[in-house]
Amino acid sequence: MMDIKKIYMDADALLEGHFKLSSGNHSGFYLQSAKVLENPKTAKLLAEALAKQIRESGIKIDTVCAPALGGLIAGYALAAALDVRYIFAERVDGVMSIRRGFEVSKDEKVLICEDIITTAGSALEAADVVKSLGGEIVAFAALANRGFCKRQGSTLEQKESCKLPKDMPFFALADFDFEMYAPHECPLCANGSVAIKPGSRGN
Ligand code: ZN
Repeated sequence: MMDIKKIYMDADALLEGHFKLSSGNHSGFYLQSAKVLENPKTAKLLAEALAKQIRESGIKIDTVCAPALGGLIAGYALAAALDVRYIFAERVDGVMSIRRGFEVSKDEKVLICEDIITTAGSALEAADVVKSLGGEIVAFAALANRGFCKRQGSTLEQKESCKLPKDMPFFALADFDFEMYAPHECPLCANGSVAIKPGSRGN
């Protein structure tokens, strides 16, 4: 069994410290998910592990579609591992769209792939645009699950904020469900440390 968290740690994609998240909450961990994909060999390894789970489920997939930017690399690597077609969706004036000459055939079986699923907002928007073009969404996938949605095989419960339909299979390699705190309740702040904004050092 692959130790996914160790792979993220080793790639400096899972940071330990005291962070101020974009939501305003504080956490002792921060996931810089693009970092784990900077080594193409690691990307390939992770995508193959994810592809194995998907293949074992028996779900037939014609195409992987990723919402840009976050899902681009993970989606491409997964499509390569599954040996299927790959397209991506992107925001145009804030609206998720399929451009670049990509076509979706009627009833084409499409899996939506992200690098990390938090509440799955972008993934769901990509699914909606694929459906509007006649495609059929058969599953969602991500390398990492932030712990709000329920991935196949996990004991975590789906939280209210998860936007994925409950009856839709969601594949991910691991749950990264680290705790978040409101600033006034943060035990790290109580210990006197100051939360830093990931990215404040140029990343
Ligand atoms: Zn704090």
